[in-house]
This record gives sequence, structure tokens and C-alpha cells, in this order.
Amino acid sequence: MQIIELQNFIKEKDYKPELKEKYFMKLVEEVGELSEVIRKEKRMNHHDIKGSIEEELYDVLYYVCALANCYDIDLEECHKLKSEVNERKWYSNENNHG
Ligand SMILES: [Mg+2]
Repeated sequence: MQIIELQNFIKEKDYKPELKEKYFMKLVEEVGELSEVIRKEKRMNHHDIKGSIEEELYDVLYYVCALANCYDIDLEECHKLKSEVNERKWYSNENNHG
């Protein structure tokens, strides 16, 4: 699955741009839940995802996508542009150290 497909999947069932601040609050909440399961090292048990790092990572990704949808942001385009920025930064750091 590509990121844009996940964004479209979420947009079809959960798209309320007027509630973007609530999506942001949910994102922060999910990051908190992720923090807890990472601290407790709770990995998915067989196919039971509840209360695991896998579940909370997905929840964070979900709200990142929901927020991107509110702003009509294509995360794949962001990836492309940001990769170029990081690449240039990496090369200039390389040059600074070389
Ligand atoms: Mg959660």
C-alpha cells in the first residue's frame, strides 16, 4: 500500500477539516500511548494487535494522514521534497567534515 492509498482510505471514512485541531490532539494522545508501549516493550502477540507498539504506531500514522487530508497535503509529495532537502543537507554535512 502506498501512503496516498492510506490517505484516501482514511479520507473516505474520516474527513472533517473543521475538526483538525481535534485530530491534532488525537495525534498527541496516540504519541503518548506509543511512548507507554515502547517503554513497556509491548510487541504484538501472534495476531493480537491490541495494546502493542504495532497498534500505536498505526494510530499515530492514522492521525498524521487524517491531518494531512485536512490540509489537502499529499504526503508522498512531502516525502519527495523532504528527501531532497535531507539529501542536500547530508551532502553539505559530508563536505563540512571532509
Ligand atoms: Mg492508540
